[in-house]
Amino acid sequence: MVVMSKTSAAQIGAHIIARCDELAELTEEQGVMTRTFLTPMHKAANERVAGWMNEVGMSARIDPIGNLVGRYEGARADGPVVMIGSHLDTVRNAGRYDGIMGVITGIEAVAALHRAGRRLPFAVEIVGFGDEEGVRFDTALIGSRAIAGTLPAKAMEAKDAEGTTLAQAIAQFGLDPKTVSAATRRKGDLLAYLEVHIEQGPVLERMGLPLGVVTAICGATRRRIRVKGEAGHAGTVPMTGRHDALSGAAEMVLAAEAVAKAHGIVATVGRIAAEPGAVNVIPGGAVFTLDLRAEEDGKRAQALAEFDRRLLEIAERRVLKLEIETTHDAPAAPCAPHLQGLFEGAIESLGLKSTRLPSGAGHDGMAIIAIAPIGMLFVRCEKGISHNPAEAVIADDVGLGALALSTALERLAQSNA
Ligand SMILES: [Zn+2]
Repeated sequence: MVVMSKTSAAQIGAHIIARCDELAELTEEQGVMTRTFLTPMHKAANERVAGWMNEVGMSARIDPIGNLVGRYEGARADGPVVMIGSHLDTVRNAGRYDGIMGVITGIEAVAALHRAGRRLPFAVEIVGFGDEEGVRFDTALIGSRAIAGTLPAKAMEAKDAEGTTLAQAIAQFGLDPKTVSAATRRKGDLLAYLEVHIEQGPVLERMGLPLGVVTAICGATRRRIRVKGEAGHAGTVPMTGRHDALSGAAEMVLAAEAVAKAHGIVATVGRIAAEPGAVNVIPGGAVFTLDLRAEEDGKRAQALAEFDRRLLEIAERRVLKLEIETTHDAPAAPCAPHLQGLFEGAIESLGLKSTRLPSGAGHDGMAIIAIAPIGMLFVRCEKGISHNPAEAVIADDVGLGALALSTALERLAQSNA
């Protein structure tokens, strides 16, 4: 059993943070932190982390899509695998902990086993996914989808800003794009997939809790909505009888906010434009985006249906036309109830109060759920800020996350002995 004091949590956390800070030096853009998929800096990060894996008795290899896969053997060579992962790529001008902290935390949990000379009834694999953020090829989760076997063949033709295809980038990385399917793991090979990640939101901080258990990675729908009215002279057309597309769109934006609040989900209009966009012209057209997320797909569908009803009502009343296009639609990835319970028990065993919360942000588990039950543990981050150099965590919290992960592994070992 792991018995740990607050002091040791702070020490472990400081060690993990120091490694995250060290990795932040491996950046494509001087002065800011940017590390994208299949670049020389990605290779350097893989090598650095592989060295840390080797230090704690793990073998390390680069899989055919460029993921780093470390393995700590179990008691039996043919036993199952518990995969612990997160991503080593970043957004542009990123923080230091999003993704990376989860990989380093996994290695820390293995380090504890290695020091104690312990083998579990399963092998522990730590994966540093090469692409979660989707910055380089405009399509996300390439690394985890390759492992899950859900990366479509046409993804190989995706191009980066320089016109390099994914297949070419894989070859330039020193791998053979024809062997990518060999990265795929069979359903049933993994006993569980566990991920520790910063929350990227303010909920834990507001509750005063260092750790939380993720209920689900939210499903998301994105839409582009075009409103068509009638352009006219800003000075000569009276207020009555106008068909101002932007005023209509503004009412629709507020409807999105109201619907989200009523359904207990989140909806965001992040972009809006008026056409023709002149100071003295009544907007004849308006285009806006909607991003709507919910932890349950049923809730998301209900909210969308209500949003559509409100949109039609507003358009009808204002005599406007609507064109609605769905640009993205991804189902929710629920965390397995037994793995939620596992993390909850682990948190409580450290003398902490636990809470459950959904993840509004996407994670590699969304892909891995195709082949394994997933469980996620959130670590509080300062003000919920992420995808930003201001991203910050407390050593104590990070250490407690590592201890909770170790405890979860011990308990999984007991129930799978
Ligand atoms: Zn992340």
